[in-house]
Amino acid sequence: MQSYDTVIVGGGPAGSTCADHLRAAGLDVLLIDQREFPRDKTCAGWITPPIVETLNLNIEEYSQHAVCQPITAFRTGMIGGKAVETDYGRIVSYGIRRCEFDDYLLKRSGVPTQLGHAVKSLEYRDAQWEINGEIRTPLLIGAGGHFCPVARQLGAKSEESATVVAAQEIEFEMSDDDIGRCNVQPHQPELYFCSDLAGYGWCFRKRNFLNIGLGRTNGEKVSHHVDAFADFLKQTGRYTGRFPGKFHGHAYRLYEREFPQLFGDGVLLIGDAAGLAYPQSGEGIRPAVESAVLAAETIIAANKSYGRDQLAPYRDRLVARLGTPRNTDGNHWLPQSWLCTLAGTLLGTKWFTKHVVLDRWFLHANTAALKSNHERHEKHERKVI
Ligand SMILES: Cc1cc2nc3c(=O)[nH]c(=O)nc-3n(C[C@H](O)[C@H](O)[C@H](O)COP(=O)(O)OP(=O)(O)OC[C@H]3O[C@@H](n4cnc5c(N)ncnc54)[C@H](O)[C@@H]3O)c2cc1C
Repeated sequence: MQSYDTVIVGGGPAGSTCADHLRAAGLDVLLIDQREFPRDKTCAGWITPPIVETLNLNIEEYSQHAVCQPITAFRTGMIGGKAVETDYGRIVSYGIRRCEFDDYLLKRSGVPTQLGHAVKSLEYRDAQWEINGEIRTPLLIGAGGHFCPVARQLGAKSEESATVVAAQEIEFEMSDDDIGRCNVQPHQPELYFCSDLAGYGWCFRKRNFLNIGLGRTNGEKVSHHVDAFADFLKQTGRYTGRFPGKFHGHAYRLYEREFPQLFGDGVLLIGDAAGLAYPQSGEGIRPAVESAVLAAETIIAANKSYGRDQLAPYRDRLVARLGTPRNTDGNHWLPQSWLCTLAGTLLGTKWFTKHVVLDRWFLHANTAALKSNHERHEKHERKVI
């Protein structure tokens, strides 16, 4: 039986960020992921500058090995409606590819990994977790995304009580012919809202990679909406080329309606495993990274004593950062049809689009980067056990 100070389940942005911080603090960490890396993750791959800052990511260095598309403008509107262009004249976001980004962060963390191994069994006794009957640790971190086995073990909230986004996406490298059929500019991603406001579609070009997708919250079949969105892109000439494969589906919870399950004796949940994505945009990478930093700070302060009481400050840190989840059910006094008409009108105006939709909902322009004490100077190699 191998033993570690901490075992992290999941090597996405949440898991690798937490691993990085704990290793730097001198903890003996093992990270387990069911997939071999590099692996893809269904995602549009949009990150904002505060994530870059919190991760201490050197964009110049990162861009030498990976796609990192600067974004300075947006094209937005309703599906079937008129579009508005908003030009910031400076970099307000980046487009990354998750197969590259997640692999880079995991390698950079320098922690030993066990990849291609799913966590199938978890048992807690005598203040120790036993994982798959072969690894022991007093502290388990659930970073396994929406289907995280640690979250399941902790009895995380059921899908009925939480707001769940169901989304589909495709990302592919365009051929010369496809590029000729694409009017989406790399510096200007396009976002189009569904007429019932239950979701939105995006068309996002990163160099010559095109990412198209759509996500919705009301549990209806997403594929009909994806088909309608693809037709809309074709009819409006945004992209008239081929799709080389099928769209991939995934789901995740928003930080809305109910307070998520976050910790227990010897266990913490971070990122999508806890259900922390921003409710308005569905952006989940920033909450994943920030929750990982806050969890690591809590663990380091707990000084190897991992009872519920010692881990409870994680909840306070998270609430100080994200606020408490809002219950949006029945919060508006206008009938739904009026709301949709009003939203359609507002989304056609430059002021509302820039100051509310983009600055407030998508860019979180008023929320500064989460500062972390952890400075990175060195490069590490990943050790695979
Ligand atoms: C279509 C779509 C588009 C999106 N676009 C964006 C976007 O543009 N920007 C943004 O900020 N957010 C976006 N999101 C949300 C974002 O992808 C997630 O919030 C983010 O990936 C969460 O990171 P994480 O580290 O918590 O989990 P994940 O990235 O999901 O990583 C979890 C890891 O755990 C591993 N794992 C799972 N189960 C097990 C197991 N049993 N044993 C071992 N390992 C396991 C998985 O293999 C995976 O590597 C999008 C989501 C979707 C579905």
